[in-house]
Amino acid sequence: MFRSMRRKRQQLAHEEAVEILRAGTSGVLALAGDDGYPYAVPMSYVYADGKLYFHSARAGHKVDAVARSPKASFCVIAQDDVLPERFTTLFRSVIAFGTIRVLEDEAEKRAAIELLARRYSPNESAESVDAEIGSFWNALCLLELTIEHLTGKEAKELMMARS
Ligand SMILES: Cc1cc2nc3c(=O)[nH]c(=O)nc-3n(C[C@H](O)[C@H](O)[C@H](O)COP(=O)(O)OP(=O)(O)OC[C@H]3O[C@@H](n4cnc5c(N)ncnc54)[C@H](O)[C@@H]3O)c2cc1C
Repeated sequence: MFRSMRRKRQQLAHEEAVEILRAGTSGVLALAGDDGYPYAVPMSYVYADGKLYFHSARAGHKVDAVARSPKASFCVIAQDDVLPERFTTLFRSVIAFGTIRVLEDEAEKRAAIELLARRYSPNESAESVDAEIGSFWNALCLLELTIEHLTGKEAKELMMARS
């Protein structure tokens, strides 16, 4: 049911798309928002084994949207170099479609927040990570997006430079 890319030559290999997800530190999570308006909200995330993990407050537009529909997409822009004289940009980006859920199991939540902590604060000690997680554990909501369809695309100028 997922569409294929019209400009296939610009499509990145799956491994390259995964690498962009691994390397990125933020993207835009698109959800079914209020009154039929899509809700596209910027979020930090971590990629692991075909899934994306996010931390969130327990209340708000985002979690209401997840409760409304588990279908989501997430876009990460890896590169966007403007070339004014060429009227274009050198871009690389990925879009992941999938199903999102709120983690309820304590062990799953703990594993997800530790992945996020290791991704964003890799040099902090285990004690420091534990203390940080402990300080906001009760307010924390962890979301898991299972990727069902992933595509990466780059500007044709980048594609031609590689071939
Ligand atoms: C680079 C980046 C990384 C972020 N990482 C995280 C993260 O890991 N976890 C996290 O919980 N939040 C993160 N945020 C903040 C996030 O974008 C939301 O503001 C936050 O999650 C609250 O979302 P909500 O739907 O619960 O907000 P609500 O307050 O319920 O949203 C109500 C309304 O406020 C407006 N709004 C909400 N967020 C934004 C926004 N970012 N910019 C402009 N208008 C907004 C919208 O109109 C929305 O409908 C990040 C933001 C940025 C820019």
